[in-house]
Parts: sequence; C-alpha cells; structure tokens
Amino acid sequence: MKSNISLLPFNTFGIDVKAEYFEEITSTFELKKALRSGIRPLLILGGGSNVLFTSDVKGLVVKNAIAGIKVARSFTNKVWVEVGSGVVWHEFVLWAVKNGYGGIENMSLIPGTVGAAPIQNIGAYGVEIKDVFVRLKALEIETGKLYTFTNKDCRFGYRDSIFKREAKGKFVICSVTFSLTRQAHQINVSYGDIQKTLEQNGVKEPTIADVSQAVVQIRTSKLPDPSVIGNCGSFFKNPETTTDVLEAILKNNPTAPHYHLPDGKVKIPAGWLIEQCGWKGKRVGNTGSYEKQALVLINYGGANGKEVRALADQIIDSVKLKFGISLEPEVNIL
Ligand SMILES: Cc1cc2nc3c(=O)[nH]c(=O)nc-3n(C[C@H](O)[C@H](O)[C@H](O)COP(=O)(O)OP(=O)(O)OC[C@H]3O[C@@H](n4cnc5c(N)ncnc54)[C@H](O)[C@@H]3O)c2cc1C
Repeated sequence: MKSNISLLPFNTFGIDVKAEYFEEITSTFELKKALRSGIRPLLILGGGSNVLFTSDVKGLVVKNAIAGIKVARSFTNKVWVEVGSGVVWHEFVLWAVKNGYGGIENMSLIPGTVGAAPIQNIGAYGVEIKDVFVRLKALEIETGKLYTFTNKDCRFGYRDSIFKREAKGKFVICSVTFSLTRQAHQINVSYGDIQKTLEQNGVKEPTIADVSQAVVQIRTSKLPDPSVIGNCGSFFKNPETTTDVLEAILKNNPTAPHYHLPDGKVKIPAGWLIEQCGWKGKRVGNTGSYEKQALVLINYGGANGKEVRALADQIIDSVKLKFGISLEPEVNIL
C-alpha cells in the first residue's frame, strides 16, 4: 500500500491533492484484501471524471481497475454482458459496437469506468444507463458481503440512483450486467445533433457504428478534452422546475429553451441559465466557464478545488438571483 500519493493523475479536473493511503486493485479478491486493511474512510475512484477534490483525502483511496467483459447469457435477440467495474466505459462501448451489440452507442465517449456509470445513471443523447441495465454486484464495505442490485433496486432517476442517496459510500460496485440487442437495434438519432452529423457523413440508414462515430464527432467538437483542459463535463444538473417559474422566465426571455416532463415539471438547460447570467467563457483566476459550453467549469492549469467550488457557488447565487432557480452540482464535491 502506498502513502502520501498525489491524485493529480487520477482526476480529470487536474486538481493536485494527496491521498493518505492509495491502492490500485484489479480484482474483487484484491478489493477484499484492501478492505481488510481496515483503513477508513474509504474512497473508491474510477476514472476520477466526476469528482472535485477540495482538500487532501484522509484514509484509503482505492483506484478501481477490475477488468473483464463477458457474455453472461445469450438470447435470440439480445445478450446479457457482465462487465468488470474498472473497465473504461468507452472501451466497453467500442467492444459492444464491434461485436454488433446495440443500446449504448449514444453514450459513446462518456469518460470514466463502468462501475461509476450506475451511480449517477449516466446518459447522453436520449439514452441513459437505466435503459440497458440488468443488475450489478457490489461489496458492502462494512461487512465485505456481496449483494446484487436489480434495475428496480437501484432507483434510477435523472443523474441519480440509490448510490447517491441511502447507499452512498456503503458499497463498492464490482461488476455491472447490461442487456444489449443483437438485432433489430433501436437506433435513436432524435436527440441533439446526431441526425445532422449523420447527414454530413452521408449516412442514410445508420448502423450502431455510424451512431457511435457521430456521437464521438459531436462530443469531440463541443466538449473540452480533459487531457488538455481539466474539467468534469457538466458541472451542474439541468434543473427541473414548475410551469409557473417557466412562465415568469418566458415573459422576459420568450425563446428560453425548455422541455416538458411527463410528471408536469419543466426542465431548463442549466447551460442556458448560466450563459444568461454572463458566465460563458468567463475566467476567474485559474478557473472559469468553458467558452463553448457554459455548463462546463474548467481548470486553466493550477486551479485548486476550493477555487472551482467558489466559482460554482457564485454561479449558483447569480442564477438564483436572476431566475429564482437553485442549481445543483452533478459533480461529487469532496
Ligand atoms: C468531458 C466529460 C464529459 C462528460 N459527459 C458526461 C455525459 O455525457 N453524461 C454523463 O452522465 N456524465 C458525463 N460525464 C461525467 C462522468 O464521465 C461520469 O459521471 C462517469 O460515470 C464517472 O466515472 P468515473 O469512473 O470517472 O467516476 P469517478 O469520478 O472516479 O467517481 C465518481 C463517484 O462514483 C464513486 N465510484 C466510482 N466507482 C465506484 C465503484 N466501482 N463503486 C462505488 N462507487 C464508485 C466515487 O467514489 C465517486 O463518488 C462527463 C465527464 C467529463 C470529464
């Protein structure tokens, strides 16, 4: 076990903090061994693409690299694939596309590991992990017992699951099983710029590989590459509000983008709200809001987590003041 290790290479925001103890694990066996060390608190780190470190981390940081992708069951039209939680999400997507398995191509290029994906029910371009999720296996940290969570058990919501609520910090996800289509794929090109990009690529009848490629193109052109500019993608969730609040906003901003949800609420893009408050592309010290997407906070180099959190707080305050809406961080602030 290593001690006093810099976490700079292990988080996409590029924040330089230290872990008191640090261990990389590649199997459930090694995970159990690390748990038996008794060092607490315990922080599981996947790709570090959804965490903002605001101080050194006490206790043990376990870097998860549990490997393995295998077809667990085969049906006529679909397969169940069990994936080690330390597998890089996009590598799994590429594996699925190469093998002709559909369902996750719209989530191409989302950074991070398979094991972290259910925690905030990752999603992009109209698809969320809950749409293809069968079950996961997780070790309870306190007892070392292995539990299975079904789709229903996970209580998935928008960027939300039981692992951000009651089960927060209590389990280590070891593997996740997905249900992917083998034929009659549900091609979903209705969201964002996918259709436009496919047209530009000269694709009339898109395959899952075409969709994956289009998504990679769109994401590469819009989002900052964390290996160049430190960031965690969307810093805030898109807020859900009432029609009354929406109407008040529409009075002064008739073209405000919004989406009506089945439960009667309305979703307003957080990026738009932040932009209207003048933050888009604005730099504050070593941090700022990304010039192409206000929702992404970035590290220009050398920023610390407290600086980023201070900027996030200022943005929250100004959106609240202008629109009466409280933004919630999507990123885990530690
Ligand atoms: C450029 C960019 C674009 C992004 N785009 C999207 C997007 O389109 N959609 C989207 O949903 N997200 C997006 N994200 C956010 C991020 O990619 C996801 O949240 C991803 O699932 C995080 O995975 P990770 O392995 O990096 O998790 P980490 O950041 O390492 O961990 C996140 C949280 O999960 C916990 N955790 C991690 N692994 C485990 C485990 N095995 N068991 C228990 N707890 C665990 C950690 O303790 C931490 O609390 C983006 C991020 C970036 C940098």
